[in-house]
Amino acid sequence: MNKKKKGLSHLFEYTGKYKVLTILSCILSGISAILSLVPFICIWLVVKELFNNIPDIHKTQGLSFYGWLAVYSALLSILIYFVSMMLAHIAAFRTAKNMKRKALTHLMKLPLGYFSQTTSGGLRKIIDDNAGLTETFLAHQLPDLSGALLMPIAILILLFAFNWKLGILCLIPLLVGFLFIKHLMSGKNAKFMSKYMGALEDMNGEAVEYIRGIPVVKTFGQTIYSFKSFHSSIMKYKEFATTYAINCRIPMAGFTVSINGAFILLIPVGILLIAGANDYNMFLLDLIFYILFTPICTAMISKIMYASDNIMITKEAVKRIDSILEQQPLVETKTPQVPVNPNIKFNNVSFSYPNSDKKALCGISFNLPQGNTVALVGPSGGGKSTIAALVPRFFDVQSGSIKIDGIDVRNISTKELMSQVAFVFQDTHLFKSSILDNIKIAKPSASREQVINAINAAQCNDIIDKMPNGLDTVIGEKGVYLSGGEMQRIALARAILKDAKIVILDEATAFADPENEYKIQIAFEKLTKGKTVLMIAHRLSTVKNADCILVIDKGRVKEKGTHDELIKKNNVYAHMWKDYQTSITWKVGKEANHA
Ligand code: ADP
Repeated sequence: MNKKKKGLSHLFEYTGKYKVLTILSCILSGISAILSLVPFICIWLVVKELFNNIPDIHKTQGLSFYGWLAVYSALLSILIYFVSMMLAHIAAFRTAKNMKRKALTHLMKLPLGYFSQTTSGGLRKIIDDNAGLTETFLAHQLPDLSGALLMPIAILILLFAFNWKLGILCLIPLLVGFLFIKHLMSGKNAKFMSKYMGALEDMNGEAVEYIRGIPVVKTFGQTIYSFKSFHSSIMKYKEFATTYAINCRIPMAGFTVSINGAFILLIPVGILLIAGANDYNMFLLDLIFYILFTPICTAMISKIMYASDNIMITKEAVKRIDSILEQQPLVETKTPQVPVNPNIKFNNVSFSYPNSDKKALCGISFNLPQGNTVALVGPSGGGKSTIAALVPRFFDVQSGSIKIDGIDVRNISTKELMSQVAFVFQDTHLFKSSILDNIKIAKPSASREQVINAINAAQCNDIIDKMPNGLDTVIGEKGVYLSGGEMQRIALARAILKDAKIVILDEATAFADPENEYKIQIAFEKLTKGKTVLMIAHRLSTVKNADCILVIDKGRVKEKGTHDELIKKNNVYAHMWKDYQTSITWKVGKEANHA
């Protein structure tokens, strides 16, 4: 794509071969607008003819000709406008389709990490709504705009041709109106549309996330917490909308008053000018003509104003679709290699997230030999999830390398990498389809038998038993929802079914009650047995048996070793362990007191 092109000319890149139709529709709309003026000229000619022949009205000529001319030109104007609209709609539908297709195809090529940074609600809005806005613009506003632009020009020419003094009188309020609009569209308001649409997207995204989370929120009574980010996005939107409305107050009022007040100047000054006119009849005739035309002129100016508002919206809409297309797709190697042994090596890996200058990881090196378990521990925000996300290439490292069996992950095809790695992260997403299908996503060729085995191993039997249609129950339908802990177990069943050599898991405990937690522990053990495991641990009890523990803080490896080695060192991990022990004793003590 030609990145230099900006704004509406860039929009035509999406229009493709339908550009011709769009241009044709604009031309036709312009012709139709000019034709719609002919009846007004006919009226002027008729009145002139009558004036010239008063009182011998029967001497008038050509009245019926003017009448028919008015009828034919009005009909022709409507017909041409209809054809113009048809062409515009065809081009608009195709353009919106092209936009959506391009964006969706591109999304499929993006690294998975992109989706963790963008809410699905926000993405839907970017693609759907912005393609929709562009469609409306091309189907209605652009052809109307060409008509609306041509008409005032034609009217002005006519106005000056009849009587230049009255022409200037008509022009003054229009010019004042334009000045107000110019003020409205420049300065701090110019950037408003982009910020406004950003805030709208945020609010939409948060709304979708909020609604999606309702079942979990209800189960765990976290209403205020989950509403917080949705609420702040609403407030941000409100702030933008209010600021804009306040900024627009004066210019908008000025515009409306000057445009609609054209008569205030025209009628009294017109009457005053009659006294000095050479030919009273002609002057009166011209004045009538101007009084007839002024409302059309003001209507057209209003149309142009709203259309220019829409041009800003459409430019922004195209920019937002572009923002998806500008995301770098995951680079697929041309000479893919296949790792045989599942050992992982991080070599001096540094990484910053695409939207941030801060280094999330800085010079991380460690080995994860085949069949071993490496546990990542450390404070929140230290970089554990980032390390885990880099192995399946949610993002690519900026320096250093991650190798599986000596092969850089960038030299392994995405398909192969995905087949070798199973990952279970905290935010499990289940589709609105049967539990069977939800689990089979991990391995579409799996038999029902294999799925049932995975369910048994993941301790999900109780979930299936309570479902109205067992394995075939559709999640999200008729009030069938799972708790956070249950979703985790379904995610574990997925990973068990996949039976990949490498397992990356985030040992989430946030949503698990004791019953679920116990079952999740057993499922973890089944999933990780005999595998190469990289695990983000939140409770230190589970890392005691790991082959190697890495303490990650501020994007660096602070300590490395087995549990016993690190306890002996009596440093960061040993302190964490002590705190952990204290918290357990405290918890147990508290429970005993309650009993
Ligand atoms: P942990 O898993 O140890 O809690 P993370 O790997 O999630 O830590 O975060 C490491 C750093 O990267 C933090 O400073 C965090 O703010 C930042 N970070 C995490 N995810 C993103 C993201 N999607 N975009 C930008 N920065 C991020």
